[in-house]
Amino acid sequence: MLRPLIMGNWKMNGTLAEGRAFVRQLCTLLEGSSNVDVCLCPPFTLLQEIRDQIGLTAIFLGAQNVHHADKGAFTGEVSIPMLQELDCTYVILGHSERRSYVGETDAMIARKILAAQSWGITPVLCVGESLEVRDNGEGERHVLAQVRNCLDGAQAEPLVIAYEPIWAIGTGRAASTAQAAQMLKAIREALVSMYKDAGASVRLLYGGSVTAANISEYLASEYANGALVGGASLQAEEFASIVRQAETVPCITK
Ligand code: PEP
Repeated sequence: MLRPLIMGNWKMNGTLAEGRAFVRQLCTLLEGSSNVDVCLCPPFTLLQEIRDQIGLTAIFLGAQNVHHADKGAFTGEVSIPMLQELDCTYVILGHSERRSYVGETDAMIARKILAAQSWGITPVLCVGESLEVRDNGEGERHVLAQVRNCLDGAQAEPLVIAYEPIWAIGTGRAASTAQAAQMLKAIREALVSMYKDAGASVRLLYGGSVTAANISEYLASEYANGALVGGASLQAEEFASIVRQAETVPCITK
């Protein structure tokens, strides 16, 4: 039985004041919450502030991207030791927005995953197919190739994988529970074939237009161990409701 993980990806949203107010409200709403891991991934500029705000609560901090090198002449980039200094536990890697807007490739993501693991930061590898690929019947092959390519040389621990169909991200058109379960099952099977028993311990998240209204459907599937939430993570009440619902649904891997 894997502990559910609910991650909020704020993308390029949030001022210092908004971040502060959000965390204050979220902490009040989640008081007494215990059996779900919660992680906030604000923009780099808010990491320190949110770190200070979450203080001694059980909320984890994550970044939305990182460079693979420890330091050097990489203008505009942020390194893993820098994230570690800010107490980041997780880093989202390979988000489809970075793949499409910045041209990140599986090979680039693989280097980042190796680097994050070597520093003990948990990479959250995002994979997912476009609508065109899905409609061509190539969805599963495409996603499993991303998994294998991005995990080239990587270990099963620490690692989280988020299945995020591109057509469901920020569109309000969430994948059906059957579509999500089918892909998560295929990812789980690939992980078990790559890592044997250790592959069963990797938490698998669904992401793509998750809201307080649909989260329980995804978590009812035995293949989802949590969710990566974009838009719905920007409102404390909605995000807290997602976390509260995750508390009541046992997540079991098979
Ligand atoms: C995301 O950006 O990872 C995401 C899933 O966004 P949304 O929930 O807004 O679809």
